[in-house]
Amino acid sequence: MYKAVLGDQTVLMEGPTGQIIDVHQTPPPTRNPSHIHVFESGERFSRKVFVGGLPPDIDEDEITASFRRFGPLVVDWPHKAESKSYFPPKGYAFLLFQDESSVQLLIEACIQDEDKLYLCVSSPTVKDKPVQIRPWKLSDVDFVLDASMPLDPRKTVFVGGVPRPLKAVELAMIMDRLYGGVCYAGIDTDPDLKYPKGAGRVAFSNQQSYIAAISARFVQLQHGDIDKRVEVKPYVLDDQMCDECQGQRCGGKFAPFFCATVTCLQYYCEHCWTTIHSRPGREFHKPLGKEGNDRPRTLPFRWC
Ligand SMILES: [Zn+2]
Ligand SMILES: [Zn+2]
Repeated sequence: MYKAVLGDQTVLMEGPTGQIIDVHQTPPPTRNPSHIHVFESGERFSRKVFVGGLPPDIDEDEITASFRRFGPLVVDWPHKAESKSYFPPKGYAFLLFQDESSVQLLIEACIQDEDKLYLCVSSPTVKDKPVQIRPWKLSDVDFVLDASMPLDPRKTVFVGGVPRPLKAVELAMIMDRLYGGVCYAGIDTDPDLKYPKGAGRVAFSNQQSYIAAISARFVQLQHGDIDKRVEVKPYVLDDQMCDECQGQRCGGKFAPFFCATVTCLQYYCEHCWTTIHSRPGREFHKPLGKEGNDRPRTLPFRWC
């Protein structure tokens, strides 16, 4: 088990919508070696909890009733609103508790088997079926592998399609094993529930590892039960100057284009993009937009 030893350190990182996130690292709580639980007191959790392996005939009201003793909650599953089904179709659901303290109570009521948590739930036909309860620890959202390295957004990749239970430490280890030089990994979460959205960021300490990762484009993430091909691309920032003219040919505006082709790997203003990419061998390069904006940016045919 790797663990970066951190003091009280504040790391600034640009978030997916361009805002600066204050990634505040607090020192890990003192561990009590005789404590067998993986979930320690004082741990913070998302109010959203995954529950899997439900009895097939359990409906929304019965799921709610099974967990209501921990506090007010809403039951949800992917595409619930569209499907109008009363039963979670794949045997799993999410419990959205009103209060984080409900998650603590739920965890305390669970049976622990190795690193998994179970609670017995009944449906009209199945009595006391152990279902898996998977809470999301807020401390799993980011991980610093090498605190001596500054986080360089220009050596950061965006990883799309991350399986939701993957922790930042696991993402960091997988990418470090594949490309080396990982100094930081973060899992993107939604601001309200602080639950993973299925994407992450990995920062490298050196250009070679960064280029190796983006050149691969896809990575096979393997960890425990997880085996999934995910997309890797450069993390594109909104506030960078054109690397060619440093803003001189575009009135000092931030560069609207990033070329992810390894021979370029630069930000460009419109003027410089057109100039550089009229050179032989570069005419087929395509600008990469920020993630979440999958539509390729259209390039103007003329500029003045
Ligand atoms: Zn320029
Ligand atoms: Zn290019």
